[in-house]
Amino acid sequence: MTAQNRQFKRLAAHFSDRLISNVADYPAYHKDASEITAIPDAILFAESETDVIDAINLCHTDNIPIFFRGAGTGYTGGAVPSGGGLVLSLERLDKLELFPDRKMALCGPGVITIDLMKTAEAVGLYYPPDPASYEESTLGGNVAENAGGLHCVKYGVTKDYIIGLKAVTYDGRLLETGIFTEHELFNLTGILIGSEGLLAAITEIAVRLIDIPKPGPTILATFDTTEDAAETVADITAQGLVPAVMEFIDGDAIACSIAYEPVIDIHKAEALLLFETDGHNAPDRASHIFDICRRHKATFLERETNPAKTETLWKIRRNLSKAVKASTKDKIAEDVCVPPSKLPELVNFVALLNKELPCRVNSYGHAGDGNLHVNFLVAENQNIEPTLLKKAITRLFKKTLELGGTLTGEHGIGLTKMEFLELEFSGETLWQMRKVKDLFNPVCLFNPGKMFRAGH
Ligand SMILES: Cc1cc2nc3c(=O)[nH]c(=O)nc-3n(C[C@H](O)[C@H](O)[C@H](O)COP(=O)(O)OP(=O)(O)OC[C@H]3O[C@@H](n4cnc5c(N)ncnc54)[C@H](O)[C@@H]3O)c2cc1C
Repeated sequence: MTAQNRQFKRLAAHFSDRLISNVADYPAYHKDASEITAIPDAILFAESETDVIDAINLCHTDNIPIFFRGAGTGYTGGAVPSGGGLVLSLERLDKLELFPDRKMALCGPGVITIDLMKTAEAVGLYYPPDPASYEESTLGGNVAENAGGLHCVKYGVTKDYIIGLKAVTYDGRLLETGIFTEHELFNLTGILIGSEGLLAAITEIAVRLIDIPKPGPTILATFDTTEDAAETVADITAQGLVPAVMEFIDGDAIACSIAYEPVIDIHKAEALLLFETDGHNAPDRASHIFDICRRHKATFLERETNPAKTETLWKIRRNLSKAVKASTKDKIAEDVCVPPSKLPELVNFVALLNKELPCRVNSYGHAGDGNLHVNFLVAENQNIEPTLLKKAITRLFKKTLELGGTLTGEHGIGLTKMEFLELEFSGETLWQMRKVKDLFNPVCLFNPGKMFRAGH
């Protein structure tokens, strides 16, 4: 018996054949959407909170690192089992209970985001945070990453809808926060949101829901330059107009989406903005947005209220991630965020990188939040020095910070952004955050080697 087998003996005895050791048969559980790959020693599909508590207690005793996993759609390697250990999948904890009269729901962490949205919608309620991955991502992953989404410009991000959490700590205790507890001094819900699987295993999530807003027109606008589109965004924001969605797509990304599914004929555009309006006075707001687009030299404008037709327009945005990936061999996806007034400078900088680098660089994102996904796209026959790419990514991050932005719009730190943390945070701030991590996870049982590196 190898030392490794001995270490997993108690877990295997407790969970018997539910503990998967033929991990080679489960390649999806070796990586997330970042495509960083590491092979775990075992995988466990928890089916209850008790399973989670038992697994954590046994791993704590036997010194086995744990990597929590929802759907593995994270972009920064958060769920990757770097260094081996146990992948603890929470996807089967997918109980969903709706309380329409209290406008809330109780969800297991494995509930898929769109399932919560559809269940709520059936009784006239709405859960707004909609990451573009909403058909796959889990609520546990959304909470752990504080996911944003298309509607966040108006409705806020995941943290704005979480009213309580249940979570299991490194020593197997059940922590209850928000509405699950009577009194609370510190905002423990807030500490757990965005903690990227470093502080505790989230086992139950209480979410608040709102009434479904009255839908308004969708607007599509194309431009001859990315700058014109970005200035439109800055102007709309400066005028205090709040669309429900305001998405930016650059020319290269538009071409990828149209090649993937040619929903409309917009071949020549260098940039595209998609707006959704809703609620009180939506038609007036849409007219105002329409006029601002025209003033900023929109070359094509479409205003649509027919649900089937608007759905077609939104395909251009919804298909993007897959479409851009399909257009190249390697896609290195970065995600940054600046104040919307600085978006024109950021898109200009991306255009500069695209000119300077031998590979394509394109971008799209939730422009209303100043959020931009910048993709470095290396083609089949391109051999690009990794140091060259790293230098370009570092320049992108430095530019973002110079513009008053942040290195992580919504994808977290995980493995891929650890080395850049010092660019954004002072040593003192990092030290304080590290202290919080050490308090919750003193023996590095959860997600070791992520977010903080030695010396932070
Ligand atoms: C096509 C595509 C589009 C995307 N669009 C967006 C977008 O618009 N906005 C956005 O914010 N993100 C987006 N993402 C990133 C990703 O979908 C989100 O970060 C999502 O919240 C991850 O959910 P998941 O269930 O896949 O989590 P995973 O990838 O499985 O895990 C993410 C992190 O959460 C931790 N974790 C998971 N479950 C738990 C739990 N129960 N308890 C404790 N820790 C846990 C993991 O350890 C890991 O650190 C996109 C990704 C893709 C592939």
